[in-house]
Amino acid sequence: MNKKECPSCAMEIDVNSKVCPVCSYEFPKSNTAARWIVLLLVLLFVVYMLMGIF
Ligand SMILES: [Zn+2]
Repeated sequence: MNKKECPSCAMEIDVNSKVCPVCSYEFPKSNTAARWIVLLLVLLFVVYMLMGIF
C-alpha cells in the first residue's frame, strides 16, 4: 500500500486519501508535477521552433 506524508501533520496516510484523517488537511488535486512537465515541454517546443526560424 502506498503512503504519502501529510504536509500539515507529517502523518503517513493512504495515498488515495483526499483529506487527511488525522488533521483534516485537504490535499490539492494531484498531478501538479505532471502539469509542470507539460508546461516545460511546451516551452521547450516553442524555444525549439524559434531557434529553427532564426
Ligand atoms: Zn494531516
